[in-house]
Amino acid sequence: MTDRKPTTCMRCAVGCGYRQRDTDGGPKFVDVRGDNDHPTNRGQTCNRGVRETVDPTGERLTEPLIRRGGTLQPTDWDTAIGTVAVRIIEALRKGNDNVAVLGSGQQTNEAAYALGKLARGGFGTRHYDANTTLCMASAVQAYMQAFGSDAPPPTYEDVPEAQTHVIWGANPKIAHPVLYRWIAESAAADGELIVVDPVESETAADADRHVRPEPGTDLALARAVLAQVVDSGAVNRRFVERHTEGFEAMVGSLPAIEVAAETAGVSVDRVAELAAAFDAQTLVYWGMGVNQSVQGTGTARSLIDCCLATGNLGPGSGPFSLTGQANSMGNRVCASKSSWPGYRSFDDPAHRKAIANAWDVPLSRLPDDSGPGFVRIIDALARDNVDVCWTVATNPVAGMPDAGHVRNALGETFLVTQDAFRSDTVELADVVLPAATWGESEGTVMNMERRVSRVTAAREPPASVRQDVDIIGAVSHRVVPALFGSERLDPESLFDEVRALTRGTTADLSGITYGRLADELAVRWPSSTATDQGGYRYFDGEADEAEGGGETDDSWSFHTDSGRARFSDASHEGVPEPIDETYPLTLTTGRRPDAFELPTTEVVGFSVDSRSGPIRGRRIASVHVQHPAVQAHAQGCASVASSLVATEIP
Ligand code: SF4
Repeated sequence: MTDRKPTTCMRCAVGCGYRQRDTDGGPKFVDVRGDNDHPTNRGQTCNRGVRETVDPTGERLTEPLIRRGGTLQPTDWDTAIGTVAVRIIEALRKGNDNVAVLGSGQQTNEAAYALGKLARGGFGTRHYDANTTLCMASAVQAYMQAFGSDAPPPTYEDVPEAQTHVIWGANPKIAHPVLYRWIAESAAADGELIVVDPVESETAADADRHVRPEPGTDLALARAVLAQVVDSGAVNRRFVERHTEGFEAMVGSLPAIEVAAETAGVSVDRVAELAAAFDAQTLVYWGMGVNQSVQGTGTARSLIDCCLATGNLGPGSGPFSLTGQANSMGNRVCASKSSWPGYRSFDDPAHRKAIANAWDVPLSRLPDDSGPGFVRIIDALARDNVDVCWTVATNPVAGMPDAGHVRNALGETFLVTQDAFRSDTVELADVVLPAATWGESEGTVMNMERRVSRVTAAREPPASVRQDVDIIGAVSHRVVPALFGSERLDPESLFDEVRALTRGTTADLSGITYGRLADELAVRWPSSTATDQGGYRYFDGEADEAEGGGETDDSWSFHTDSGRARFSDASHEGVPEPIDETYPLTLTTGRRPDAFELPTTEVVGFSVDSRSGPIRGRRIASVHVQHPAVQAHAQGCASVASSLVATEIP
């Protein structure tokens, strides 16, 4: 047995520190335990994170594959990379956008950065995104619009300080177990836990109060709560006047409380209780129940509005989106997707020029907009106008809605799939590039509260498997050899490139080095020196102290043009597909307690709408997507049973 190396759990974005070691051929993949020195978790772990790290499920890809005669057959790396490179070079002759690249929140910062540099700076394609968009785009847009910057203002240090915890459209007891432990402890000690969710989730079962809106009406409920805050005089006028803008316009756009409450299927009394929760020091957490909606950004902004209106933005309070994938934030900061590294804007020609200079590529090669997102890229593939698509650590067939459409789209292109395990997408690939997984890879990740920490390799991958950065380097070397200057990419050097590009930006990583991470294990950005790290994002407590205590005008500084946080004015516009006699059920999604990763994580729950059944808000059925089956509540289904038909999930 070798010494234990510090690493980070990659099963969710809580970002717990582990100590791991190789098992030298033992029954476990690696052996891990919580790292008592890690500032994120101080040794705490969850069973699922440990179990899935030491015993990952799935059929391992152990050698490159190439499609011949309709089937995937083993090949060697030289043939696989050579084939991929030739197809990419041919495709790029027709135009930069003729190659699509789809990344993932499961990559290290280094791999995400290298892939983005190759996609944008090497290929020059606009058709580049990562699956993080599918879960976090709404929250990111909401933060950007409200604060001018994408990052949750709170950190884990705020959790024990909060008096009220409002969890909206999320099930952290299952999805973020260690963070939920802290939330539950805080609520149990001297606080309150309120859950807003149509589903009777495991988290909701623990709540002091469970509010159940109709599926798809979260924005109506959030706006009703906001209206109640305004009507009841609970607005923090001092904070609003000094540090925000758009308050009057927001108030002018609010619905009548009774109407919005009825739309949400929640009583006016319940709305008043929810509004009153913001009288205390309140943290509002939200997840996919808010984000994955056609009005997700509007709902997230309304939750932020509730915090702004009540001044719930200081320590122990604030709007905290719960990130799912372990390195979703790292992708946003490093990967050149919706912004250049360090949140440098695509709209700013100076930023584009700075990136072109740093990468030593022609300015004209870099796209001048971020291009379509993940869903629209799949649509472009389906229209048969993208010759090559390269997926890295993502499984769009299982992760996106309408699997049939996704399969057809991927069938229209030359598909290159880079992954560690077999998946639905791998089965469609023309070339498969087998990648190392956690425990075999070197790099860094960022958790949901902006902490950067190391991912390390405790064991060698199988002989014919390579780390992500090695595969990206090999493709780059054949297609654009000058981009990295070498086929062999070094994770620390890649991280140093990111550090340099983020220097002076709102996501400054320049003060974080591998050496510092070896000593401190995790460092929160922004960090511009070898000793500093980001505290409360938009609040400067030192300014208070300089003024002799008490909040001053200088205490808050947002990254908007005015330096003020912005209110919003979105209104609920109805669900896109309301129930009718033919389709009498409304579907919503949840998460299985026994698994994190696709294809075993997604569960579909049915709720009967108030207009078609007597048990409004009760979960009546669920579908496990890996083993199609329905669990139905007899009472709820009785009213619609005659119209239920069996259908095969494609
Ligand atoms: S809470 Fe998340 S990061 Fe922590 S051990 Fe569990 S799965 Fe891993």
